[in-house]
Formats: sequence, structure tokens, C-alpha cells
Amino acid sequence: MAPPPPSEQPDAAAPGAGAISRVLIVMAMEKEATPLVNKFKLVEAPASESILLRHQNELSKLYRLSAGVHSARFTTRFPKGAPWTRFYGCYKDLHLDLVMPGKDAVFGVDSVGTVSAALVTYASIQASKPDLIINAGTAGGFKAKGASIKDIFLASDVAFHDRRIPIPVFDMYGIGARKTFAAPNILKELNFKVGKLSTGDSLDMCSEDEEAILSNDATIKDMEGAAVAYVADMFSTPAIFVKAVTDIVDGDKPTAEEFLNNLISVTAALDVAVTKMVDFICGKRISDL
Ligand code: SAH
Repeated sequence: MAPPPPSEQPDAAAPGAGAISRVLIVMAMEKEATPLVNKFKLVEAPASESILLRHQNELSKLYRLSAGVHSARFTTRFPKGAPWTRFYGCYKDLHLDLVMPGKDAVFGVDSVGTVSAALVTYASIQASKPDLIINAGTAGGFKAKGASIKDIFLASDVAFHDRRIPIPVFDMYGIGARKTFAAPNILKELNFKVGKLSTGDSLDMCSEDEEAILSNDATIKDMEGAAVAYVADMFSTPAIFVKAVTDIVDGDKPTAEEFLNNLISVTAALDVAVTKMVDFICGKRISDL
């Protein structure tokens, strides 16, 4: 028998007691995020409150949301003027918000890097009080530490490599090393690689950065992770970091060229990894991860 049309399907199962219900996915680039927006059938949050409410009414009719899920929505809006974008929707029994820092107002490119990532993470935590943050994106990998193109890593630790403050204690503040939320069952189930992530505001790497990355013992390198971790920790929100390797930093190809050549295919691998992860998270408690 053909499945019933969406409006006749039963409501999403109510999450069990203590189950994760709100997940915030933070991503840096539109090209990285679009496949996931489509996969999870997320809709873009509109710009004004009245439109937002109308959309939610329509959405709740469409998905026949339970009262609990219906009230689970952004309670504060992104301020006018911020380029940040948000896509949202229900997937199984999860409420998903996928946010990005959006396009730079002057140059029109994705606002990659730590400042924008921290801002949009901060605003999103305030607005949606997520149970869990997933920072998903691409990264450079070090083959000397076992990384290959298209590998999916879950970061065990994050730190900065371009905040050099050679004054006692400020030096450690600058590095900002911290452990990420441990998710041993995700690792067991999904077979991702594990490594330390080093974050800085440059795609390339000067010799001082390289030294710091080595001392951070990093296997992967990005431009957002440690900044997202800093904000997540500030508000005691568990955060996990899933990174797909687009380029080999200690290889012989120029990073920018290798990154652009691999971006689409690696993004597809990231998309599969994040979907599997979200599927695993459904119905689980934070302590089950
Ligand atoms: N030239 C690119 C700019 C992307 S910046 C473009 O126009 O599309 C790189 C993005 O990918 C950042 O969000 C960063 O987190 C990630 N990234 C991938 N490889 C990286 C590397 N080797 N070093 C730092 N960040 C990297």
C-alpha cells in the first residue's frame, strides 16, 4: 500500500524523557551547508517576526507538530543588520537549526573565520538554547598525523594557533586549548577518525602558526572550531566538531587550489557523516552519546 500523504502521517514520536530535542548545527560556508539544508528539508527563517510566525503556523500544520515541538523555536530573533542565516525544521523527533554567518556585506563571500563563527554561535545559543551543538565543516589535514582527503574527523580537542601572547598565563589563554564534549558512542557507531583540531583565521599557515599547530598536536586545521567551542563552553552547551578533510596541509599541492578542487566531493562526504550523526542522536540523551 502506498504510504499516506505527509498530512496523514502520525506525529513525530514525542522524544523520551531527557532525550535531546534541539540541535544547533553551525557551519561556515553556504556550499558546505546546502546539501544538509536539502537533506533535512529545512526552511530559511524569514526576516521579520510576523512572517516568521506565519511560517511556523504553516510548518506546524505541515508536520503536525506536537505542542512540545511547536513551542521549541527560536525565542529571540537575529538582530537587524546581522548577515547570519538560519534554516530550521523538524527531522524525526529533533528540532534542527542550521546557522551560518552569512555573506560579508562588503565582499559578498561567506564570512568564514573565528569572529563571525563566535558571533553567530552566541546569538543562536541565546535564541534557541540548544541541547547540543554540531560544528560541521571542512578542514585541512596533516598526512603526517594520518589524515587523508575525504576523511571525517571528530575533534577530541580544540585550540588556537594564531593567538600568540608571550606573557605568562596570557600565553595559555591565547592558545585556548580545551577538550570537546566526548561522544564515545558516536565514534563507536560511526567509525569517524579522532584527532585534535587547531583553529586560526588564515587558510594558509606561516611558520609561527605551523609551530603552534605542532605544539597543539593537531591532525586537522580549520578557521572556526576553537571559536565555536569557546562560546559553547561559556554557556555550558555540549559541542561536537565534525570535520571533513578538503586539503592536505603538509602535502605538495597549494592549499587554496586543493581546497577548491575537493570542496564539492568532500562536502558530499560531510553531508553523509552529519546525517548519520543526526540519525544516531535521534531519541538519545546527551549521556548516551
Ligand atoms: N577560497 C575559499 C575560502 C574558504 S576558507 C572559497 O572561496 O570558497 C576555508 C574554509 O574551509 C573555512 O571555513 C575553514 O574552516 C575550512 N578549511 C578547509 N581547509 C582549511 C585549511 N587548510 N586551513 C584552514 N581552514 C580550512
